[in-house]
Amino acid sequence: MELNQDVQYLKGVGPAKVKLLNILGIHTLEDLITYYPRDYEDRGKPRKIEDLQDGEEALIRAVPTSRFHVINTRRNMKICKLLVSDDTGTIEIVWYNQPYLKDKFTSNKEYSFYGKVSKKAGVITMNSPVFDAENESKNTGKIIPIYPLTYKLSQNMLRQIIENGLKAVDGKLEEILPDYILKDYNLMGINEATYKIHFPKDFEEFKYARLRLAFEELLTMQLLLNNLKYKSIEGHNGIQFDKNVKMSDVINSLPFKLTKAQLRVLEEIDRDMESDKIMNRLLQGDVGSGKTIVAIISAYKAVKSGYQMAIMAPTSILATQHLESFKNVLEPFGIKCELLISNMTKKKKEEIIEKLANGDIDVLVGTHSILEENIVFKNLGLVVTDEQHRFGVNQRSIISAKGKNVDTIVMTATPIPRTLGLILYGDLDISSIDELPPDRKKIETYAVTRAMEDRINNFIKKQVKEGRQCYIVCPLVEENEEIDAKSVMEMVDIYKNQVFTEFRVEYIYGKMKQKEKDQIMQEFKDGKIDILISTTVIEVGVNVPNASLMVIQNAERFGLATLHQLRGRVGRGEYQSYCILKYQGHSDTIMQRMKVMQDTNDGFVISEKDLELRGTGDFFGTKQHGLPEFKVANLFEDINILKQVQVVANKITREDPDLNNEENKKLKKMINKRFSGKIEI
Ligand code: ADP
Ligand code: MG
Repeated sequence: MELNQDVQYLKGVGPAKVKLLNILGIHTLEDLITYYPRDYEDRGKPRKIEDLQDGEEALIRAVPTSRFHVINTRRNMKICKLLVSDDTGTIEIVWYNQPYLKDKFTSNKEYSFYGKVSKKAGVITMNSPVFDAENESKNTGKIIPIYPLTYKLSQNMLRQIIENGLKAVDGKLEEILPDYILKDYNLMGINEATYKIHFPKDFEEFKYARLRLAFEELLTMQLLLNNLKYKSIEGHNGIQFDKNVKMSDVINSLPFKLTKAQLRVLEEIDRDMESDKIMNRLLQGDVGSGKTIVAIISAYKAVKSGYQMAIMAPTSILATQHLESFKNVLEPFGIKCELLISNMTKKKKEEIIEKLANGDIDVLVGTHSILEENIVFKNLGLVVTDEQHRFGVNQRSIISAKGKNVDTIVMTATPIPRTLGLILYGDLDISSIDELPPDRKKIETYAVTRAMEDRINNFIKKQVKEGRQCYIVCPLVEENEEIDAKSVMEMVDIYKNQVFTEFRVEYIYGKMKQKEKDQIMQEFKDGKIDILISTTVIEVGVNVPNASLMVIQNAERFGLATLHQLRGRVGRGEYQSYCILKYQGHSDTIMQRMKVMQDTNDGFVISEKDLELRGTGDFFGTKQHGLPEFKVANLFEDINILKQVQVVANKITREDPDLNNEENKKLKKMINKRFSGKIEI
């Protein structure tokens, strides 16, 4: 069978199963065999009955020592019991409603059982185990893959289907890694690795299968990024912005002193802008570190050198706020700034399009709308994207293509763990603002349970009475308009009509009309609203210095990175600020996460912890960073593989950047397939 064939043609897959497979995102044979296990159970090593512990899952080999008897309970339940023994002890096996199993057992033969052990009051039992007769190894005797499932599809069924799928394509998978890489790094071939990641003989074999697949994933990713970087520095034909335009003219006009870090970063940018190199710079700095002003000063340099500048932000609220900041600083220098968001009249938009094309607008501040095809600049020279993590790798290149050899700065407050940074921004130079403006106070953070509800509400009242404002954030349950609205509305009802009747309470959520959102945000900024209830729409960039308190409901549902971003909305002014994390549950992960938030305000520490706590299986926000998901590789654990991969990738890129050599052609094909529609080599 061919890889792209529909799974319905596979043996043992009828219409009902096709539906279930589709739910799992499995449509083709290729989807099926790359649907990797999320875990494995070691059913390989038998244990002695006397060594078994309460609660563990274990494999035993034992001989039946009682008859198989069935007890009928009053509720019409059939409890089936069988005593089995090895040379160290006896255990009771229990099944429910499976009297037909009776015929499977003969008293003097040995069987393997795998299941959960319970040891209570001296009685040791195993509940509903899977089992095999002496010479069988259908369910035991090996490592068994465990797949993410959907309702009505069992592990056994899926395992069987995948095994059939693997048989159908055995030996037909195309090897894309060149021979020398396979040899140099001692990697399995693709056919072997694909089979063994599902059905390894032992964990050693699993490790090698996984290594091979992770290597390939990381290598294709790295080659693509190398290629982007290569293209961006190819030739020194960047714009040389005017050396006589002095950034210091703007800097001296500001009402505050820039931090050392801001000044250093501006120097780096200034140098790049004046050189003939095309600037591709990542500007990272924790929330509140003052990245916007850096963008504004860079815009000054570009505009006064005779070019246009564009800055793209992920939400209209943020774009609107940026416009204000840009105008405040740049209008006194005669620089014309305009806003472009999706929600504006057709007439206004047409006016902007026209002015942009004939150069009557110097700075365009906007959202994704800037990417639209009909947005054409007269001579765009500098592009900034704010909160880079909200945009894909590809969007970065779309906007740059609206000018010729433009310089770009991408700004992000999402602290990027070192490992991810290596991959994600491999094609960028990095500038860091590693210092906050001096007047900032540490945000005091407290993690509390529901028992503290009244005290928290009193604290909110106290803050508001002192003239401050407060955010209450509740988790967006799903990307679903109704649920989204509902969870906010419930909160609003309680807070507005019961708890804080004497204050002005308003709400905002993602799917609200843009106009309403903008209006509410504006009123909050103007101090007309005391308490703002919201979903995570306020996560990014909004600046209300008078807001000193943030209460986050169900904080356990948010990742650390998000919590940190949210918290960054307070502590932006002169007031001591607070963040209260209300959480439920007390699993280790939750407790650790809450502790991290209480202990540190440092975004980098938090991001490293985040990655660590998420662990295997959940690959740190690659999606939010605009990268495709990794199926096998894990950016936290695979740093060593990544390092090896980078050595190979850099060598390949040096010798054959566009991957046109015969031995690299298959790699190229795979890369273009994996990133299809997004970007191409
Ligand atoms: P972020 O890096 O999170 O985007 P902003 O650029 O929004 O942060 O800056 C946060 C606030 O700090 C803004 O009100 C800005 O005017 C102010 N700010 C920036 N730099 C300084 C500085 N050096 N001293 C004092 N305030 C500053
Ligand atoms: Mg910002």
